[in-house]
Amino acid sequence: MTHPRTPHTPDPVPHPARPLLNRRLAEFGTTIFAEMSALATRTGAINLGQGFPDEDGPEEIREAAVRALRDGRGNQYPPGPGVPELRGAISAHQQRNYGLAYDPDTEVLVTAGATEAIAAALLALVEPGDEVIALEPYYDSYAACIAMAGGRRVPVTLRPRDGAYHLDLDELRDAITPRTRLLLLNTPHNPTGTVLTRAELAAIAEIAVERDLLVITDEVYEHLVYDGEHVPLASFPGMRARTATISSSGKTFSFTGWKVGWVTGSREMVGAVRSAKQFLTYVSAGPFQYAVAEALALPDTYFEGLRTELRFRRDLLADGLTQAGFEVYRPSGTYFITTDIRPLGGTSDGFAFCRELPEKVGVVAIPNAVFYDHREEGAPFVRFAFCKKREVLEEAASRLKGLAQG
Ligand code: PMP
Ligand code: GLN
Repeated sequence: MTHPRTPHTPDPVPHPARPLLNRRLAEFGTTIFAEMSALATRTGAINLGQGFPDEDGPEEIREAAVRALRDGRGNQYPPGPGVPELRGAISAHQQRNYGLAYDPDTEVLVTAGATEAIAAALLALVEPGDEVIALEPYYDSYAACIAMAGGRRVPVTLRPRDGAYHLDLDELRDAITPRTRLLLLNTPHNPTGTVLTRAELAAIAEIAVERDLLVITDEVYEHLVYDGEHVPLASFPGMRARTATISSSGKTFSFTGWKVGWVTGSREMVGAVRSAKQFLTYVSAGPFQYAVAEALALPDTYFEGLRTELRFRRDLLADGLTQAGFEVYRPSGTYFITTDIRPLGGTSDGFAFCRELPEKVGVVAIPNAVFYDHREEGAPFVRFAFCKKREVLEEAASRLKGLAQG
């Protein structure tokens, strides 16, 4: 039976005196990633905006997911904290890579990607009025989740100097007030590619202990480090009890669509985060959890291979961007390159630049200003993702050279 088409007459807005969207979320429009990926699809441009690989991760891990699905493992609600195989694999991963011991039964929690882990941790730990310090530029979901928790975000700005972005520890100290509840860190850092050094992390740990702060540390790019090393904040003295460490399989294994993430921390910390998480998704992604358990046990050669290939791609795109006329901040980690567009001589407004770029040369990028409260600080900076095939990066670099030619 077909239904007759009725002309569209808009329904009256209920409660017109107040917007539908609650005021905590009013300032957050559509995420820039959705906006820019839609722009890429619409224009057919090369998408170096949203950070997702254009090739899937290891075939054997994809097959592991198929096997789990076929064998009926995870097709019904898995246990709330995650399947034991994955919790065991996460615990073993922390031990093998960092010498950190977490009890898989009480100190590990599986989440729907790092995104849910961030949301659950903030909803669990923050009360209305609490101040949350976040490194600016910050990943966009941080601001929205702090707002949902009723917290107040206090940005501490990373600034470019000598070809890289740096944290000013004095600024961090100055940002702390009696209302500060929590530091929300991210290393390796999206979008700047900065990897906090052991000395910086030691200083942050000292500050957290001295001021009795909780810490959420987002370490989703832990395996994507090209210069220096990734050191988990939880490994510093006094930090285990006060830190919720977050990671995800999306970046490490190139399956961003599976949305398997996790939190490790003390029994009390993980228990608190679980209290919030159970009412968000309850559980997620059953069969994928089994596959990620196998992925975490891959030999070191897998992780080294990923790093080597991405380092090559970083250099490929960084050199291309330099030749195209950008000032490039070569990242020590992540798969993003932040650039300054001012040397190109055109607009110094990253938003305008990114909106025009697909039409001009057929490439999509992300304006870093969206990751700032102090928008003027981020205005001339634009981020490019290099988790794409070499030939795609070469083609993008060659198109971007067209900018210099007018
Ligand atoms: N944190 C950071 C810093 C990110 O860049 C991202 C996006 N990949 C996430 C968290 C979200 O990770 P997931 O896809 O696992 O939810
Ligand atoms: N983390 C990815 C990025 O920074 C995008 C994830 C998303 O679309 N929310 O590009």
